[in-house]
Amino acid sequence: MTIKNESVEIEPSEGMVKKAKSLTVESLTPGSWFVSGGSEPHIVNKLGDDYECDCLAFKFKGMCSHITAVKLFLANNKM
Ligand SMILES: [Zn+2]
Repeated sequence: MTIKNESVEIEPSEGMVKKAKSLTVESLTPGSWFVSGGSEPHIVNKLGDDYECDCLAFKFKGMCSHITAVKLFLANNKM
């Protein structure tokens, strides 16, 4: 069970950022991205201010390389 503190944003680890930079992000719809390049492709969804991924890392940590990749993609594309 994950207790979420709204005031604290979970920071991706250094490894996640490194991995995120090797991933490919494609925009599917506003608020939904297809992230490929890892062991399996994953879909990242934005719900309000939160991001959600269907991978295991996200389930356990609440953060993953795919979400990090999407954030990097958005920072670079200013949409
Ligand atoms: Zn993920």
